[in-house]
Amino acid sequence: MCGIVGISAESNVAAEIYDALLMLQHRGQDAAGITVCNSDDKLSTRKSKGYVRDVFAQRHMEKLIGDYGIGHVRYPTAGGAGKEFSQPYYVNSPYGISLAHNGNLTNSKQLANELFHAEMRHLKTDSDSEVLLNIFAHELAKQREIYPSAENIFKAVSKTHLRCDGAYAVLALIAGHGLVAFRDNNGIRPLSIGIRKGKTRDEYVISSEDALFSSHGFKKLRDVEPGEAIFIDKNGELFSQQCADEPKKRPCIFEYVYFSRPDSKIDEISVYKARTRMGTKLASQIKNSKPDHDIDVVIPIPDSSVTAAHQLAVDLDVPYREGFVKNRYIGRTFIMPYQEERKKSVRRKLNILDLEFDGKNVLLVDDSIVRGTTSKKIIEMAREAGANKVYFASAAPAIKYQNLYGIDMPATSELIASNKSDEDVAKEINADWLIYQKLDDLIESVKEGNPKIEEFETSIFTGEYMTPLVENYLEDLENTRKDELKMQREKSTASG
Ligand code: AMP
Repeated sequence: MCGIVGISAESNVAAEIYDALLMLQHRGQDAAGITVCNSDDKLSTRKSKGYVRDVFAQRHMEKLIGDYGIGHVRYPTAGGAGKEFSQPYYVNSPYGISLAHNGNLTNSKQLANELFHAEMRHLKTDSDSEVLLNIFAHELAKQREIYPSAENIFKAVSKTHLRCDGAYAVLALIAGHGLVAFRDNNGIRPLSIGIRKGKTRDEYVISSEDALFSSHGFKKLRDVEPGEAIFIDKNGELFSQQCADEPKKRPCIFEYVYFSRPDSKIDEISVYKARTRMGTKLASQIKNSKPDHDIDVVIPIPDSSVTAAHQLAVDLDVPYREGFVKNRYIGRTFIMPYQEERKKSVRRKLNILDLEFDGKNVLLVDDSIVRGTTSKKIIEMAREAGANKVYFASAAPAIKYQNLYGIDMPATSELIASNKSDEDVAKEINADWLIYQKLDDLIESVKEGNPKIEEFETSIFTGEYMTPLVENYLEDLENTRKDELKMQREKSTASG
């Protein structure tokens, strides 16, 4: 999970990119970085591990001089978690290119092989984003132009599309030339563009989420289309072209469920409104299956379920109460990589207001159930606080398969619903009744915002992946993601 932003303006952009990254911080808390290009066509970068506010000090910002630049926040989905994985990545040939990526390539191992053996490019990390950068750089270099035109850049993007499988929303800086953006031909990860009037030219922002546009004085122009590339040259002239053979808009549905900010619109669909519709659909399901339900109160598990839970309570005509208080200042210590630590951290993150539970039949609402750690712990806390019956609703259907397209999800075997019926999940988390959103209802909730979209990326619920998968890809990924194996790997690196 990552967030990206690029700005092309008349004057220094680093401070605005910094502010924009703060607004994208929910998309990744592991590392952050900014690269800008100055009037001498030199790139400057600051990147490191940590929150945006910790990575950039005054002394770093003072050195980031340039009118066009890109920024990245990272949460690891592929590659390791070391400092060397922070982005933007850089390659010196051709021109000097810096790149920031949100998504995940599913054929990056094969491409890394090709890059090494056929194209004689050495990669420093096993990051798929470094692979993507080198593929794009190689395709641009092949055209042997000292001054690349928009046409050269679009040709390189077309070739990149032909070689890369998976999901990618990309921003790249070409030193001395401009800012490039492109989105994979399914448009799985979001990317949109905004415009603002400068004194002598239009200024542009391109970002994973448009929530940050208005606070920076930009108006949304549109979403970047699947397969499309945009080039804003260093003088601010914008060029765009469709670079994929058969583009089709199939955005990731989990952006609407959990990942994106409620104040963003993705592919013309308001995340906030989609979440209210998810609440309405859950309410209908409850009313249809138990018209005489005995729910006394609806309680959200903060934060991403709040919008759906509130609408659910309104539609059921049942009181909505805040039964948990979230500690917003919890530091990095509590972002726990392993299961045992995760269990403890739920209690530290969420404190319970006993008086909303005592003697009541409560309906707890979360956006999704992944490992089941949160739901199990929360239900235990609700019972300790004196709840009579504890029901649980999830705004998303049961998550049964791992994510290949840039959302950080555990291995399939670690997903609580991977091999259980809904009844068995209910037993496991100790809920008196478990209501999962139906997939069709989820799709309708989102699609209503833009009926032109025919299909969404829903593989975590169905196991149907929409891009070609190389042999053993799923098994390999399963192994890299398993907690147990992660621990073993870390131990052996530590001692080795
Ligand atoms: P779990 O405790 O593993 O079942 O996780 C469920 C909780 O994690 C829910 O409250 C979600 O809001 C949240 N969540 C869902 N997807 C993710 C994700 N990819 N990374 C981190 N948290 C998530």
